[in-house]
Amino acid sequence: MARNDKNVCKLCRREGLKLFLKGQRCFSEKCGVNRRDYPPGQHVRPKKGTDYGTQLREKQKAKRIYGLLERQFQHYYTIASRQKGNTGENLLILMERRLDNVVLNLGLALSRFDARQMVAHGHVYVHGKRVDIPSYLVRPGDEIQIRGNDKIKKKATDAVEMNKGQSLPGWLEATPADLKGKVIQLPKREDINHPISEQLIIELCSK
Ligand code: SF4
Repeated sequence: MARNDKNVCKLCRREGLKLFLKGQRCFSEKCGVNRRDYPPGQHVRPKKGTDYGTQLREKQKAKRIYGLLERQFQHYYTIASRQKGNTGENLLILMERRLDNVVLNLGLALSRFDARQMVAHGHVYVHGKRVDIPSYLVRPGDEIQIRGNDKIKKKATDAVEMNKGQSLPGWLEATPADLKGKVIQLPKREDINHPISEQLIIELCSK
């Protein structure tokens, strides 16, 4: 890949991974990675790696996609391993339920960074109450709305416009005209279309 490939975002290029940082754009033709038959990165070589290396890489990928620090990731792993069912799936579902991720999935922000800022700056309301914690875990029935001054609303409206026509995960319902969304049910594994192998992550974390 040429160093100045404008269609591959900076962080994806640097990490050599498709990190899904720009919401629906990442699943569209606008993503430069989609148009390539090799991963982003200045040096392209086949990655063989050890089991450990492969597992570690998968974990790093999940952390980068959801924008998590190691400490936060370990926290989710601890919760997931105490829950009933498949720990890997529980882990992915926990990360998917983060409020910043939901704002992004609802198409109310253009990137994960924007979505996180919207929450952290207090422009996201759940059931009419301001929630400024990006890691807040949504529950079925939660109603999410963007509120704020004209500038904030315009930013969200622009994002809605840009994301028009993109598919919405089945566990969410959106009312874009009101900058609103609702959590219909908890996400299932099949609702999460990030290319993450949770099995590899669990193999690493349970060592
Ligand atoms: Fe940009 Fe998303 Fe594609 Fe990464 S996956 S290059 S963030 S559009």
